[in-house]
Amino acid sequence: MSDITTTHDPILPDAQMNLVRPKEPVIGRVTETRLCMNGKSASYVRHVAIDVSGTPLAGNFLVGQSFGVVPPGQQENGKPHAVRLYSIACPSWGEDGKGNVVSTTPKRLIDEHAPQKKTDDPNDHSLFLGVASNFLCDCNVGDEVMVTGPSGKRFLLPADHNAHDYLFIATGTGIAPFRGMVMELFDHPDGPTTSQVRLVMGTPYTTDLLYHDEFMRYAEKHDNFKYDWAISRERRPDGSRGLYVDRLIAETWDHYHDMLTSPRTLVYICGLLGMQYGFYVSLATHGIADGYITCTGPLAGTAPGDWQSDDIKRYARPTHRCMVEVY
Ligand code: NAP
Repeated sequence: MSDITTTHDPILPDAQMNLVRPKEPVIGRVTETRLCMNGKSASYVRHVAIDVSGTPLAGNFLVGQSFGVVPPGQQENGKPHAVRLYSIACPSWGEDGKGNVVSTTPKRLIDEHAPQKKTDDPNDHSLFLGVASNFLCDCNVGDEVMVTGPSGKRFLLPADHNAHDYLFIATGTGIAPFRGMVMELFDHPDGPTTSQVRLVMGTPYTTDLLYHDEFMRYAEKHDNFKYDWAISRERRPDGSRGLYVDRLIAETWDHYHDMLTSPRTLVYICGLLGMQYGFYVSLATHGIADGYITCTGPLAGTAPGDWQSDDIKRYARPTHRCMVEVY
């Protein structure tokens, strides 16, 4: 590891973990629910806020952590539903400023059955709805939600916000923690951060951009916040095909170069599994992978343009300056 890497590792705050365990969830109450897409979209994504006051969660979560939701009812086998984790979408002081109201960004899972195993009916393509996401999205203000957590001790902002600059890369609902982090950095009681902050968001269509108006407002208000988005399924104004977040960064590398070559910079990636690979290739192509990822095995001796996804998955490890949360 280079000196740069070791001297600029972030010092993360101590995060509380599993104060409420999945077997004994506590009751929260919905205080807000609203769609948060950028107009009429084929997806349904909501911003849902839950009051957890009086529970061990209150005042004890940090931006970047997750909390659990246990949907009511039972599975087909008669057992209670398992807990599902949702990324916290608000700053550490909550939606209410006092740490009593936590929020997240559920997307309704709406899909068709498809045979997975030999024993599955090959003709069954009937509709199914994700249990927890649809429960959360159906909730109205005042409804009870069984919650657990918090969890996650690595995908956190450093204790000293101004000691680093930040590149946030999201796809879809992976934007949730970045809404909280942008609020934490710019609405902090001690004043807005002096750090450089860039957010890159990727969605299929422009109407799928989440919290778009909120990020536009931060970008208008703060010169040190830049917000870009990559739309994958729409043609661009010049007629070229849509693109992914990593391609947008590669094509506009000049915008990112100074930030990524600075030893102050931390990279946070959240969303779809595999979204980080193209970005790793760009870092390596520009000779600055060191510090963000450690490459071993066949990656070490291969030109980045020839890296295979399976090898990246196996042999590229993010360092302490690169936080990755992908499912
Ligand atoms: P979505 O709206 O479908 O958007 C995902 C975008 O990423 C699409 O534009 C998609 O393009 C693009 N994409 C696909 N493959 C990519 C790749 N290899 N590199 C870069 N971009 C790529 O997203 P979503 O349905 O909300 O899904 C978000 C995912 O994030 C879910 O899997 C969720 O579980 C995960 N997530 C994780 C966390 C966490 O880890 N804490 C939190 C929240 C969400 P095309 O579809 O056009 O190919």
